[in-house]
Amino acid sequence: MLVIAMDGPSGSGKSSAAKGVARMLGLRYLDTGAMYRAMTWWMLDQGIEVEDADAVSASAGEPALRVGTDPDAPAIEVDGQDVSGPIRTREVTNAVSAVSRVPAVRERLVVLQREIIATGGIVVEGRDIGTVVAPGAPVKVFLTASEEARAQRRALETARDAETTLAEQARRDHLDSTRKTSPMTKADDAVEIDSTELGLAEVIDAVVRLVKERAAAG
Ligand code: C5P
Repeated sequence: MLVIAMDGPSGSGKSSAAKGVARMLGLRYLDTGAMYRAMTWWMLDQGIEVEDADAVSASAGEPALRVGTDPDAPAIEVDGQDVSGPIRTREVTNAVSAVSRVPAVRERLVVLQREIIATGGIVVEGRDIGTVVAPGAPVKVFLTASEEARAQRRALETARDAETTLAEQARRDHLDSTRKTSPMTKADDAVEIDSTELGLAEVIDAVVRLVKERAAAG
């Protein structure tokens, strides 16, 4: 069963690469970050204090989430509402780490993620896919890039200055990699790809090559 796990910090180019690999190999695509963002968007919309882990935990089971797996049209809905735009705001981006560190949130989303992954043929991107969500995935990639390169890419996407982006990104990466539950880390058997000096096509190529090597090896 082909599952390609792609983990790494923000701005490493994971999303574009994961979608590109899925398109090239005719696979489905799951953006687990979008699920944490959707949960965060809902908490903020409900007026829940996201720094209050007990409040977040108590309501983690409430929102109905639906996530699509088409790499050309990744859809995400909360209680029937399309939130693909609202989950990308700076407000959500800066609140998401507080929500994603809460065990009840992770437990619920990991169940949903495993249901979607169960039938295979999928590229899954996140922070804990190779370590926790799909530890048996036959292909695992940990995509990195220098902090500056990542902030530059984010700044281009968000039209904000590189300095603010760098500070916000560093804070989020620190929270994501030091939290108690499922911190972002490279799985022992993941292949690390440093995309600092690579273009998108080269990263996609490297992952596709890895998939073919693994398939050839049986
Ligand atoms: O990938 P993206 O930047 O959209 O992820 C948003 C946030 O969701 C991350 O900063 C992290 O807090 C959380 N996340 C996570 N586990 C995942 C994917 C995302 O904790 N598998």
